[in-house]
Amino acid sequence: MPNILEETNFILKKYNIRANKSLGQNFLINQDVIDKIVDSANISKEDLIIEIGPGLGTLTKELLERAGKVICIELDTKMVKILKDRFSLYKNFEIINEDVLKVDLNEIIQNEHKTCKIVANLPYYITTPIIMKLLESKLDIESITVMIQKEVAERLIATPGQKLAGAITYTVYYYCESEKILEVPNSSFIPEPEVTSEVIKLKIRKTTPVNVTSEKEMFSIIKTAFMQRRKTLINALTNGNAVKNKQEALQIFEDLKIDANARAEELTLNQFADLANLLQTNRKYK
Ligand code: SAM
Repeated sequence: MPNILEETNFILKKYNIRANKSLGQNFLINQDVIDKIVDSANISKEDLIIEIGPGLGTLTKELLERAGKVICIELDTKMVKILKDRFSLYKNFEIINEDVLKVDLNEIIQNEHKTCKIVANLPYYITTPIIMKLLESKLDIESITVMIQKEVAERLIATPGQKLAGAITYTVYYYCESEKILEVPNSSFIPEPEVTSEVIKLKIRKTTPVNVTSEKEMFSIIKTAFMQRRKTLINALTNGNAVKNKQEALQIFEDLKIDANARAEELTLNQFADLANLLQTNRKYK
């Protein structure tokens, strides 16, 4: 049996194609990494797997063996042709030729009546919009197991309040319990990406970790806070018009016993939730 590198090169040659850099095409050629991704996604015949960016189908092949159904979403028509040829005999294979950011994932999941898990080696140029879409659409899914850039992975799975945290850290923490699965060397792909990669697993929480009156308000405050993360949080919120004026910000911080010199990344999710709740109350009664 040919190894993955030989198989990948054979397919590329047969269809006379090259990896398209602008579509983030870095194909996995390391069987150990593929096994680890599939094992950590914990797949059974009861599951629907949505794979984003299947490419030449290296990961797809393993998913098809284990899952009840695999629905792939791939933007590149050339890849879609290859995948259709390659997996025509699999009854549990379906492919959608579309930009994942435009697909109504909720509709797909609701039609299948299976436990849904998302598995992917993501195109790195749109990692953040994809993760945000998966979380903000409040999909009925159990987990997201993805390969992404290490630097982004570490920000996503950081704990709010850590230096590494960004606005997305709080979103991920609100919706998921996260876990690092493994770091992946550049030599596991052709062509080799310029950055190191990491596989992470995000398990969707059944209940949210904080009580907040308006999620929208809380995430809007977090976004404003991190847009000027070098400034004190009070200045960032005042400049970003998240508060009426600096006076209101100072009062709220005093009420909540938050240091007036704190910066965005020093706050816990609970503190952002308290901030959002208090601001909402202020608006109601003033
Ligand atoms: N899964 C394959 C593997 O591991 O070898 C390929 C992964 S490659 C990093 C990313 C894949 O995402 C490519 O096949 C690329 O064509 C596809 N892709 C890029 N942008 C996309 C988009 N907006 N929607 C869906 N797929 C996209």
